[in-house]
Amino acid sequence: MLLRLLYLFVLSYLFFALLNLILSWVKRQRKLGSQDRSKGAEEMVLDPQCHSYVPKGEVFFRGGHYFCSEDCARVYLSRQGEKDKDKEMRNEN
Ligand SMILES: [Zn+2]
Repeated sequence: MLLRLLYLFVLSYLFFALLNLILSWVKRQRKLGSQDRSKGAEEMVLDPQCHSYVPKGEVFFRGGHYFCSEDCARVYLSRQGEKDKDKEMRNEN
């Protein structure tokens, strides 16, 4: 009789331990999922050419800057190139 009680006790203990493990795992998975979602929604980057915010998943990364389109990147980088040329010219003079 005593052994049977002990057996039941151990069995129920194992059952609840397993249940706890599963619950904590499910909670963690939910937390990770919500974090990922909010992160994706919040991450916006500034386009230095047209000064609009673009979701990081849709940006064009050119020359160390984020742009909303290939056109913005081209215009901005060509302008930067002109500025660099001016500097070089001044340094030479
Ligand atoms: Zn742009």
